[in-house]
Amino acid sequence: MIEEQGGPPAGILYVVATPIGNLEDMTYRAVRTLGEVDLVAAEDTRHSRKLFAHFGIKKPLVSYHDHNERQRQVMLVEKLQNGENIALISDAGTPCIADPGYRLIASCYDAGIRVVPIPGPSATITALSAAGVATDRFAFEGYLPQKTKARKDLFRQLNGEQRTLVFYEAPHRLSATLSDMVEIFGLERQIVVARELTKLHEEFFRGDVSAAVARFEREPARGELVLILPPSTQGPQMNVRDALRQLLNEGDLSRRDAVKLIAKQYGLPSSDVYRESLSLAEEEDI
Ligand code: SAM
Repeated sequence: MIEEQGGPPAGILYVVATPIGNLEDMTYRAVRTLGEVDLVAAEDTRHSRKLFAHFGIKKPLVSYHDHNERQRQVMLVEKLQNGENIALISDAGTPCIADPGYRLIASCYDAGIRVVPIPGPSATITALSAAGVATDRFAFEGYLPQKTKARKDLFRQLNGEQRTLVFYEAPHRLSATLSDMVEIFGLERQIVVARELTKLHEEFFRGDVSAAVARFEREPARGELVLILPPSTQGPQMNVRDALRQLLNEGDLSRRDAVKLIAKQYGLPSSDVYRESLSLAEEEDI
C-alpha cells in the first residue's frame, strides 16, 4: 500500500480476469480478491451478478464501461485515495484486452495508486495455446473493422507480416471477412477459427482460407470467435488455372462459388474465370 502524507493509506486497484465461458476457469485468487475488496467495477453489473451468485460473492458493484469511463474513473480514483480497495472486471476474460479499463489504470498510476493484476483466462491466449501454429511471435489485432474497405485496407497493411496474427470477429461477419482474406492473402493462407472456447461447442477449425469459406458457408458460425493466421509460407501466387483446378478438386465448393472466389482473389471478371473452368471441365474432366 502507498501511504499519502497526512491522509489515509491509499487502496489498491485489482485487475481481475474472469472465465470466458467455463466457470471452472475462475481462479482461487480471483474469488478471494473479489470477496475481499470494498467495491467491484464491472462492465455490465447484471452479467457480473450471475458470476457473483455462482461463487457466493456479495460485493457492491458499480458499472464501468466505454460510455461512462471518464466520469467513473474520477469517482473510483477518489475512493482508492480514501483507502478503499477496488476490483476491475469485464464481462469475460481479462480486462483491457479488447475491453475497457486502461484509462482507469493509467489514472491510478498518475495518482500514485498501486495496481495489481490477478491473471486468468483470455480468449487470445486460450486460442493460441491450442491452435497448433507458431506462437513465438504474434500480433493481437483485436476486433476487425466492420466495413469491408477498412478491413481490406488493414489486411493489405498486414500482408507479409511475419508474426502470427490474432483477430476477434463476430460470427455474422465471418463469411465476409474470410472472403476478404481470400482476396488479400490468397486461397491457400492457413487459418485457425477457434470457436466457443471452453464451452460445450468448442471447436478449432484448421485449414486454408478457401476451405474455411466453404465450411462456414455450408454451416454458418455461431458463438464467439478468434481468428488466427500463422505467417504465410507460400511462394508466388499460383496461376488462375492451377488455383481453379485445386479448388474444384477439393470439392468443397460448387463450380459457381469456386469461380466467384478465384475471380475475387485475382481481380478478374467472373466470366473469364468461368470460361477457364469450362475449359478445365472439357479438357481434364474437372
Ligand atoms: N477481454 C476478453 C479476453 O480477454 O479475451 C475479450 C473481450 S471482447 C469484448 C469479446 C470477444 O473475445 C468475442 O467477441 C470473441 O471474439 C472473443 N471471445 C471471448 N470469449 C470467447 C470464447 N469463449 N471463445 C472464442 N472467442 C471468445
